[in-house]
Amino acid sequence: MTIELEILKKYAESFGFKVNLNSKSSEMIIRRGTLNVPSKIKIINTNSTHQCYLLLHELGHWELMKDWTLYKQRYHFTSIGEEFALDKIYKYRRRIAYKVDIMREEFDAWETGKNLAAKLNLNIDTEDYDRYSISYLFSYIKHLGKKK
Ligand SMILES: [Zn+2]
Repeated sequence: MTIELEILKKYAESFGFKVNLNSKSSEMIIRRGTLNVPSKIKIINTNSTHQCYLLLHELGHWELMKDWTLYKQRYHFTSIGEEFALDKIYKYRRRIAYKVDIMREEFDAWETGKNLAAKLNLNIDTEDYDRYSISYLFSYIKHLGKKK
């Protein structure tokens, strides 16, 4: 594990996340039935540099949603979709506004992750990070375009 990855893991744990670096997918898990209570961050089992990028991205999401009031102002349509989903109402999640808004959050989470790396003084190749994020963003766009 690189020192960067170690620092990030500790940073995530300081919020109450359990970090799994040996997963089949990368995602941030919120405690069931809540909107922003930390549970787990899963990162795919790949090389430490890419794990670091992915952890920065997931922590970017956390940075954006830990203050739910602010999150609601910033991502109005995503927050509506998520709030209704708690009551098992999913129609708002199928709307174009939700899909575009969640895409906006994806871009912001990569950007916020990059800012976090700077804030924590991590030694990150930002050009490589951007290249890596673009491949993720592109597949997300394709995925949302197909999703009904
Ligand atoms: Zn994401």
